[in-house]
Amino acid sequence: MKKKEPKKNIESASEKTKRASKILSILQDEYPKAKCHLNFDGPLELLIGCILSAQCTDKRVNEVTSGLFRKYPTAVEFSQADQAELEQEIHSCGFFRAKAKSILNCTKALVEEYGGEVPSTMEELTELAGVGRKTANVVLGNYFGTPGIIVDTHIKRLSTRLNLTTNSDPTKIEYDLNEIIPKEKWTFFSNSLGDHGRTICHARKPMCGDCMISHLCPSAGLV
Ligand code: SF4
Repeated sequence: MKKKEPKKNIESASEKTKRASKILSILQDEYPKAKCHLNFDGPLELLIGCILSAQCTDKRVNEVTSGLFRKYPTAVEFSQADQAELEQEIHSCGFFRAKAKSILNCTKALVEEYGGEVPSTMEELTELAGVGRKTANVVLGNYFGTPGIIVDTHIKRLSTRLNLTTNSDPTKIEYDLNEIIPKEKWTFFSNSLGDHGRTICHARKPMCGDCMISHLCPSAGLV
């Protein structure tokens, strides 16, 4: 049977902002402690964790990084790692060749250009190998305290279902959400919407009947 389309009522920009604000308020009540699910101690570990998390679960990344960060505690050690050995260490995260290469190139740049430290601006971070806006916003928001919308697979899926964006390009989604969510809440909104995606609004079978924001969702019962 053909799936019903989400209701597409014409919604003004201010109505959308008001609805987003109500969604945010409920997420704050429901997931008050929402945070990044990667284990990290410092920006380097968060950065490496993010590079490893592409197409991989945070749980698996955490299993791998617990030993990895003991073996390579600084950017210098990472930058001098043997590529084949590093590939072996991160093998279970998938795309291990590309990820090992990114980690080596990224940490070499950190050593050569930033004295082994992780820079704290979007411009500098996104110049590093393997680092796009999503990873940069994770590091900026969860370590440096600079808010950013983190467009990962959950945010992409949920912001579309909630009709908070009509774009599919991650950067455009980020900019759309920047318009309707208060800046100081960008990171929290990302983390809490991610938690909602993990617990209720699953990719395959969203639990709309148990969803506390269903009255604000045009896709409720239709996905
Ligand atoms: S109502 Fe359904 S589709 Fe909408 S956010 Fe909730 S679980 Fe997701």
